[in-house]
Amino acid sequence: MKKKKNIAIVAHDNRKKDIIEWASYNWKELIQHDLICTGTTGKLVKETLAEKCSENDAVPPTVTRLKSGPLGGDQQLGAMIVEGEVDILIFFWDPMQPQPHDVDVKALLRITVLYNIPTASNRATADFLVSSSLFHKDYEPALKDYSGYIKRDVDMS
Ligand code: PGA
Repeated sequence: MKKKKNIAIVAHDNRKKDIIEWASYNWKELIQHDLICTGTTGKLVKETLAEKCSENDAVPPTVTRLKSGPLGGDQQLGAMIVEGEVDILIFFWDPMQPQPHDVDVKALLRITVLYNIPTASNRATADFLVSSSLFHKDYEPALKDYSGYIKRDVDMS
């Protein structure tokens, strides 16, 4: 991944306040990268960063908004990870309430492990990520070699 990263940001409804506080606190770090968010999270993050930038005479970042999570946004993000279009995921998921799209959430989290995507599910981890020296440097995450996976023998009998 390059110095300028594609950072995906998602927050469930009960965590939206947390993601806004976090984005507001870390605005200087975030505006140096391109952001990709699910629909509602993206609207809130974009507004928050635009406000910070206008107060501080800074240029707001590009914020790409996907579908809302329950409408397939998590799956869109998963597909982008597979295509190498997401470098980091900040995903404040709700530990207290089931979601209508729980299966999509699980799939997204699985894909982040498969593709070795740095992922933060809470503010402390997200703070550690943005304050890492690697956050503003080139970095190549090691990937496990699954190249033989589809060539394995399949017993069709
Ligand atoms: P949202 O989607 O950003 O549109 O709220 C996130 C989610 O609830 O999964």
